[in-house]
Amino acid sequence: MSGAETMTRPAVLILLGPPGAGKGTQARMLQDRFGLVQLSTGDLLRAAVAAGTEAGKTAKAVMTAGGLVSDDIVLAILKDRLEEPDVAQGVILDGFPRTNVQAEALDKLLAQNGQRVNAAISLEVDDTEMVTRIAGRYTCGNCGEGYHDTFKTPAIIGTCDKCGSTNMVRRADDKAETVGQRLAAYHAQTAPLITYYERQGNLQRIDAMGEIGQVATELSAIVEEAVA
Ligand code: AMP
Repeated sequence: MSGAETMTRPAVLILLGPPGAGKGTQARMLQDRFGLVQLSTGDLLRAAVAAGTEAGKTAKAVMTAGGLVSDDIVLAILKDRLEEPDVAQGVILDGFPRTNVQAEALDKLLAQNGQRVNAAISLEVDDTEMVTRIAGRYTCGNCGEGYHDTFKTPAIIGTCDKCGSTNMVRRADDKAETVGQRLAAYHAQTAPLITYYERQGNLQRIDAMGEIGQVATELSAIVEEAVA
């Protein structure tokens, strides 16, 4: 394999961090800036729930309770998505992997294609801040742009800055009682992945408590280097 071929391999970036850390917001910015595809297993699962597929029906109750959907279901959905042609440039994984089993399965899957994870970036935040962030957030139901009651309001309240839609939606699992469960699931099952990627020499940490633009600047610098 020549150096040139190695360079053209699709980049694989992982955003790690608890719910509310800003993974979705930052992944969308990276998508626009680097031409990578944001791949959120949460979005894929919500689409499966909305479509009423077998996987969606099984996942729905777990998601409503704030737990983690089974590795089998998540891996099957992710593999299908990775086979679609638009991911050829590279992906930013947002909300995946969330368990050791998923991280190992991803490494195996990539290795089959001569690929690897370029960088796993941990967005580091406080739990208390997360509850406030999650409780105030909503997205445009048309284009997916994210907003927040306090931190990021659209220019005209109720109208998306990006596409003009007035269909703003709040996630069912962003209720305060579910957020606690989601944070607990993060600490028990996902936070250990920070060590997993640290051992691989692939981990980068970012203080994600700051302003969205500042975090985006730091993140872009890491991504630029990781995909070079
Ligand atoms: P998110 O949009 O990433 O916050 O995910 C919403 C919900 O979908 C989570 O609380 C989990 O129930 C489920 N989910 C998303 N990604 C995964 C994953 N990689 N593994 C297991 N469950 C997931």
